[in-house]
Amino acid sequence: MVKIVELTDDLSNKIAAGEVVERPASVIKELVENAIDAESTVIDILIEEAGLSKMTVIDNGTGIDAEDVSTAFLRHATSKIKNEADLFRVHTLGFRGEALPSIASVARVQMTTSTGETGTKIIIEGGREVEKHSDSARRGTQIDVSDLFFNTPARLKYLKSLPTELGNITDVVNRLALSHPEISFRLSHNGKSLLNTSGNNDLRQVIASIYGVQIAKKTVPIQAESLDFKLSGYAVLPEINRANRNYISTIINGRFIKNFALVKAIQEGYHTLLPIGRFPIIVLQIEMDPLIIDVNVHPAKLEVRLSKEKELGQLISSAIKEAFHKLQLIPDGSVSKREKLISEQTQIDFDAREEPVAETKRQEPPTLFERPTVPEFTPEEKEWDAVINEPPEAYITEGEPSLPEATRIPKMYPIGQMHATYILAQNEEGLFIIDQHAAQERIKYEFFREKIGEVERELQELLVPIVLEFSNEEYIRLNAETEKLKDVGVFLEPFGQNSFIIRSHPTWFPKGEEEATLRDIIDEALHAPNVSIHKLREDTAIMMSCKKSIKANHYLTTSDMEALLDELRAASDPFTCPHGRPVIIKYTTYELEKMFKRVM
Ligand code: ADP
Ligand code: MG
Repeated sequence: MVKIVELTDDLSNKIAAGEVVERPASVIKELVENAIDAESTVIDILIEEAGLSKMTVIDNGTGIDAEDVSTAFLRHATSKIKNEADLFRVHTLGFRGEALPSIASVARVQMTTSTGETGTKIIIEGGREVEKHSDSARRGTQIDVSDLFFNTPARLKYLKSLPTELGNITDVVNRLALSHPEISFRLSHNGKSLLNTSGNNDLRQVIASIYGVQIAKKTVPIQAESLDFKLSGYAVLPEINRANRNYISTIINGRFIKNFALVKAIQEGYHTLLPIGRFPIIVLQIEMDPLIIDVNVHPAKLEVRLSKEKELGQLISSAIKEAFHKLQLIPDGSVSKREKLISEQTQIDFDAREEPVAETKRQEPPTLFERPTVPEFTPEEKEWDAVINEPPEAYITEGEPSLPEATRIPKMYPIGQMHATYILAQNEEGLFIIDQHAAQERIKYEFFREKIGEVERELQELLVPIVLEFSNEEYIRLNAETEKLKDVGVFLEPFGQNSFIIRSHPTWFPKGEEEATLRDIIDEALHAPNVSIHKLREDTAIMMSCKKSIKANHYLTTSDMEALLDELRAASDPFTCPHGRPVIIKYTTYELEKMFKRVM
């Protein structure tokens, strides 16, 4: 008896739809990608009821020839690749020929398309062609998708709330718009505009349309090139940051992708400029030969395989570091030259655009664009936000691009101390306010980071060895961490039940605090098991710098202050503490004179 049969086309399309068409946002992604592949310059996306009742995508692209229209809805029918060789040189977003048949199998689809000649209108419902005839000759394609999942009720049940589904659609369109600043995207929901980009190829304007002008103003351009890769894009200054990775956008050859290694490289580029647990906002466009990237690993093509991932990661990290290094990252007490420059520039850009973004969009960073997956802020994160957004607002001053490391900040002479917390200092440039705790954290962090990283470290024998006792569970976990702890200078030898004995320690341990320091470092390792040695060193250095720094409310003599300021000048990155908070705020003499109306 025959048990194995070939599935009908309709059934295989529904199965493919399970992968390709998960929710309304996936339909939008596929349809808009087709419009992009068709070389459209303007793409209109109209949504009703978060896409559940109707979604329409209208483009001005190449259109489909009358004799190809039915074929486009057949499984594995595509105009984008012809043979195996093409599969390894994909330069379009689509190539699998699955989207149209999949969508048509789970919705009612109407398409009107024309190459400029007599057009065609076709209606397909649940995979069955119900109508086809000649239509208008407007060049381009319009697709209406109604009643999504009308014939697959199980799918309907899995949909989230309307705001969530709409959030997903918006997210998808945002990404496509960031990937293609040369195309004008217009997205509306129930007649209300949600996104409008001009298509004038200015990525910064697209960032402004999506994240708001305030954020776009605080970006620095990223540019770099190697033999295999070309990078461009914008990195938002570290003072504006987020609690998750959703604002990191990586785009390869016009395709928005997710790649862990690239995200890591971006974080490495920001390094200590960001508070712990916070993530940057950045849009990075990467161009490379399609041969070194495999896009055929994920049905929605969100993940890709890169053959020179490491090399690309290094290029990204160094490009970001360099971009920030060029700026003198002293937050300014008032509006700086650079800030004015950027805002003027932005103003001009916005004035120059043909179609202004809806006013509402420009002002409030719209809640609709918040990713639906954004977790609640923890109390700690809220505290950080409060710290970061504390007035006066921190701005970036315009720096000489090539200041040598050691003189990135000028010599400053203390005037006095305020509230036993801030050092006031002056020089010919103006007035500086220095957070003494943050300054010392930065200095100590750099000291410890270097010491902890040293391979040949000097050890100090303890006269009386230290015995540390742990709970049974901690002891078990610590046994797995002993090798790693050696790399930060902690040498544990098992000693009786649930105890370790320590006979020596690195010379950089603060005198008289050896046991407390050991405990702290071991705690770090216990709280973050499986972290890399690199990360453990980093975390230990940050923890040490914070613990051993003078706190606020601590009186300093003039020579204490002088010493601190000189040490700060010698720091390689004196502008932020290791948690990413500003260390120095500056008022130029000119700004003070302006405030007192001595100059106009
Ligand atoms: P793929 O994009 O992988 O080729 P699709 O099922 O998405 O597969 O589309 C099938 C074919 O229909 C495409 O290869 C293309 O030739 C044509 N097509 C789809 N949408 C459009 C459009 N908006 N404009 C022009 N041609 C289109
Ligand atoms: Mg497609």
